Amino acid sequence: MHIMKFSKNSKCPCGSGKKYKDCCYKWHKINSAPNAMFLMKSRYSAYAIGNAEYIIKTTHPNSPHFEKNRNEWIKSIKEFSKSDFKKLEIIEFIDGEKEAFVEFKAYIDDYVMHEKSRFVKEEKWYYMKGI
Ligand SMILES: [Zn+2]
Repeated sequence: MHIMKFSKNSKCPCGSGKKYKDCCYKWHKINSAPNAMFLMKSRYSAYAIGNAEYIIKTTHPNSPHFEKNRNEWIKSIKEFSKSDFKKLEIIEFIDGEKEAFVEFKAYIDDYVMHEKSRFVKEEKWYYMKGI
């Protein structure tokens, strides 16, 4: 995404086919998503466009991925967002009241990140970790 000029009218990086403003932008605006699958997709989009705030605010404070050093974390998200976020494939979504799982494949640069992620719901949904 980094080589193109990204705007609210661009196609959403999550691959929905919708414009960003009609898709993940809705969740980025409120730092929250209505379920774990939307959270997964919107976190992928947030990485793709370098929205560090969204990643931070949707990572559970008890997650092993929650960085204590906020500035370092922001820097590493911004650095990661320079990658080429080619495609996100949702393989499985297991929804629940307080806990949900999303298995996905993220095609980034020349590799595929395959993970089954655990999400927990408190006052809103959070990413916890890969299982
Ligand atoms: Zn989207």
